[in-house]
This record gives sequence, structure tokens and C-alpha cells, in this order.
Amino acid sequence: MNRPDGNDRDIEKALRPLAFDDFSGQEKIIDNLRVFVEAARMRGEALDHTLLHGPPGLGKTTLSNIVANELGVGFKVTSGPVLDKPGDLAGILMSLEDHDVLFIDEIHRLHPVVEEYLYSAMEDFRIDILLDKGPGAKSVQLTISPFTLIGATTRSGSLTAPLRARFGINCHLEYYDHNILKGIVKRSAGLLKIGIDDEAALEIALRSRGTPRVANSLLRRVRDFAMVRGSGRIDLPIARHALEALNIDRYGLDEIDNRILLTIIDKFKGGPVGLTTIATAIGEDAGTIEEVYEPFLIKEGFLKRTPRGREVTELAYRHLGRTQGPLQSTLFD
Ligand code: ADP
Repeated sequence: MNRPDGNDRDIEKALRPLAFDDFSGQEKIIDNLRVFVEAARMRGEALDHTLLHGPPGLGKTTLSNIVANELGVGFKVTSGPVLDKPGDLAGILMSLEDHDVLFIDEIHRLHPVVEEYLYSAMEDFRIDILLDKGPGAKSVQLTISPFTLIGATTRSGSLTAPLRARFGINCHLEYYDHNILKGIVKRSAGLLKIGIDDEAALEIALRSRGTPRVANSLLRRVRDFAMVRGSGRIDLPIARHALEALNIDRYGLDEIDNRILLTIIDKFKGGPVGLTTIATAIGEDAGTIEEVYEPFLIKEGFLKRTPRGREVTELAYRHLGRTQGPLQSTLFD
């Protein structure tokens, strides 16, 4: 679920919707953002600072870009881990023009000193600039252009309360339904000039973990099979053949999803088991499991949250070819 590199990133850019009308799904968020954007334009003000949260690949960057386009303003991109010190941020903030959108990806990973520096910029559009260095250094306050900060995070739980409080608009992106993803696959196929049948587009959608980025990348891999082993057009048999050859899970689960389920089944007799125990067992961060992996597993019916912890469902046993019963192996095996 990492971000794509090189060529994949170029294609991803080409497939990125540029206006609200091209963006499928997330209807409530889009409806609201349309109103807020329109209102900001009518008032001639910057849009309120906006926080977009949700798992990777669901369209946070895309949506931020669209908001800037629809506002008719400039768009600057950076990310939490890149901003090492306040000076890095100051440079970007001073380069902004009136009402521009500044997008900070992975905003939960901002250095605390940089985060604090951001507060007065967000609130009063003012920043402190240090003149000189050393003990006698003086600082002056500068006014910057009113701007909109759009922060994106996969981990809204790890945002500090003061930062969270400074966002006027807060949107949570959800995993996409199969039909919407099918539409996204067809749109991307059109842009890449690939012929694709409806059932094949649905097959790809079903295996994409509810995520447009995954759908687009599967489409490109399946296209390779269609060109080499088929007629060039993606029909259902070639899509199935390609997805099997690529070892893509029938339900679109990724390696970590399957590891979570297998761990609960094999080590904890199917649960219930606490989140931190699962996290320790598979060596992942508990917050990431809770905010990135678990919502999809619950939505698709593989996992349940109970008052005593997480429990896998019968579907998980069937999918992983395990049998449910008292003779499961235990943690102490
Ligand atoms: P995030 O920032 O949440 O990780 P991105 O905005 O980078 O996700 O989206 C990943 C890719 O998925 C983009 O290249 C874009 O083409 C595609 N995508 C995301 N959401 C949509 C959507 N609603 N409709 C069409 N394509 C989308």
C-alpha cells in the first residue's frame, strides 16, 4: 500500500481527476466541499483549513488538488516528514499567494517544533522569522498571504489536539464500493486507451481492496497480460487469468490483512483478542491496524469488534482455508 514510484507515479498523475465532476464516490464529502468552495469564492476569502483523513490511496491528494482547481488558486505540495525545521516551512509559507492551497501529506508526522510554528500561520497568517544566529538573534513577525492548509493523514488518531482544533473542515474518506471502483477502472481504461469489458472492470474492482490506487495499478498489470496473452482487449477470462497469475487475493486483501486474520486464527483461536496484542504479534503499529487495516476487514465481514476484543468471522476461516474449532494451535505452540 505504499506510494508508487517512477513510471507508475507518472501514470497515476495522468489518471488523477481534476474537477469535482470527475471524482467518483465520497458523495457527502464532495457535496459539502462544493458548498464550502463556492462560499469561499463568493466571499473572496481563503477556504477554511481542511483535514482529510482515511487509508492510503483513497483520493486525499487528488481531492486537495481538485479543491485548489475549483477555487482557481495555486497548489503547493509538501509532507510532514520532509519539513525538518521551521525554516523549511517558513520558506514555503512565504512563497504562497493569496488564497493558495498548501497540501501537507502525512501531517501527523510533522516535527513538534514545526507543528507549533504552523499554529500562528494557520490562525493569524503570521510567522516569526529569525534574523541572525546565536544568542543575540532577533526575530521579526511577518504577515503571509491568507491561505488554505489541507492536511492529509492516514492516522487521524495521532494528530495532536491543538492541531486538530485548527481545522475548520474535517472529512473522513471511506473505502469505495465495488460499483464506484468499477466506474473508476473504466474511466482509467478510457484515459489509457485500453478496451475493457464491464465484467472485467468489475472483477478488477472486486479485488482492489476498495482503493482506487490499487484498482488503477491492477488495471495496468492486467493490460500487460491482455497484450501479451490475449487480444489486447481486457475481457473477463484474461482479467481472471492475469489476477490469478499475479496472486491477487480473491477479496482484494493484501499481505498485512491476511497476516492479521491468520494471526488471530492461528495464535489466538480466532479471538477475541486485544488490538495491542495483535499489533505486537505481527509487528505493526496498533494505530495503523486500527485506522488503516481494520476498517476494511470489518466492512468486508472478515473481522468483528466485540467488547472483549477482535474476533475473526467464519468468512475469514473459509477464505484462509482454516477450520473453525477447539483444536486450533495456540500462542504457546
Ligand atoms: P491518497 O492521497 O489518499 O493516498 P491519491 O489522491 O494519491 O490518494 O489517489 C491515488 C490514485 O487513485 C490517484 O492517482 C487517482 O487517479 C485515483 N483516485 C483516487 N480517488 C479517485 C476517485 N474518487 N475517482 C477517480 N480516481 C481516483
